[in-house]
Amino acid sequence: MIPWLGEEEAQAAAEAVRSGWVAQGPRVAEFERAFAEYLGVPHAVAVSSCTTALQLALIGAGVGPGDEVVVPSLSFIATANAVTYVGAVPVFADVEAATGNLTAETVAPLLTERTRAVIAVDQGGVPVDLTAIEALAGPRGITVIEDAACGAGSLLRGRPVGSGAAIAAYSFHPRKLLTTGEGGMVTCQDAELAARLRRLREHGMSVSAADRHAASGGAGVVETYDEIGYNFRMTDIQAAIGLVQLGKLPAMVARRRELAARYRSLLGPLGERLVADPAHGTGNFQACWLLLPEDAPDRTEVLTRLAAAGVSARRGIMAAHLEAPYKAAARVALPNTELLTGRSLILPLYHTLTEQQQDTVVGALRAILG
Ligand SMILES: *Cc1c(COP(=O)(O)O)cnc(C)c1O
Repeated sequence: MIPWLGEEEAQAAAEAVRSGWVAQGPRVAEFERAFAEYLGVPHAVAVSSCTTALQLALIGAGVGPGDEVVVPSLSFIATANAVTYVGAVPVFADVEAATGNLTAETVAPLLTERTRAVIAVDQGGVPVDLTAIEALAGPRGITVIEDAACGAGSLLRGRPVGSGAAIAAYSFHPRKLLTTGEGGMVTCQDAELAARLRRLREHGMSVSAADRHAASGGAGVVETYDEIGYNFRMTDIQAAIGLVQLGKLPAMVARRRELAARYRSLLGPLGERLVADPAHGTGNFQACWLLLPEDAPDRTEVLTRLAAAGVSARRGIMAAHLEAPYKAAARVALPNTELLTGRSLILPLYHTLTEQQQDTVVGALRAILG
């Protein structure tokens, strides 16, 4: 993934620096308002990453030691790690092979008395069917948190992913579409929860440093610290870049969808093995992955031969239960997770990819896979 950054972002960052206000301040507030408006949600709280967004989301959902949280193993490891950070146990559910996402069917067998939350991921930008998972979890008092790290610009039943969730988390790392260098956002529906998340990201302070400064130049307003918080703030420099990037999001999604469709048609029968929109939504093709056919060489060999042809593809999405910290953690077999993590690869796809470059990728793939 190559981020689509330009002169406008450079200027916005420079203006933030020149303004003298570089820590969390007016630009963060403006970015939060713009992001909430884009999603159509009442509250957006900017943070330092999606990992910290997920950690705050879990705390906000009341998850702590002794609790279990159902997550897909097929995800960037931060999804499982966030659960571990709050002292709870990640319980790995399998995913659907077609989308790489959890479904109500894969989550249901893992719910226990201890399940406090489910983290549903929009993997690679493919919208997860949150409605179905909420119908399962809601009546049991289990909170569904949406890990929409990859999902900015994807739609679930016509609405931006995450906008229907009680709590959702987004990433602005350069591997995702919209980037601020590092950065994240938590969104939620509830005003009290949003206020608590704002305090938690800033050391548990009752009044933010920016508000105190705005109110009285620092005098008169004395803050209190009613619970232990964190320093999970975003800077105004990052938010300035984010505001520009948010304006470019529709163009980014359109271009990626166009390039993905072109891959599909050029790949012929292989194109049917490319990740596609599910029935319930449209993706942003954050990760444009291809599942290798059964008779294909092993993936390492395919990647090596692609590299020799000048094509830098990547291995498919990782599986946390195959990594050292979670090796003994899987309670059920995860066949689709293991299939996708072992046999898929991610094709080059970025805003400035040319058709000529894309033709090179397709030519190399067809030569290797027949
Ligand atoms: C990238 C990613 C994260 C972590 O995002 P950061 O902003 O880098 O912390 C979490 N979950 C998923 C699904 C991701 O793809």
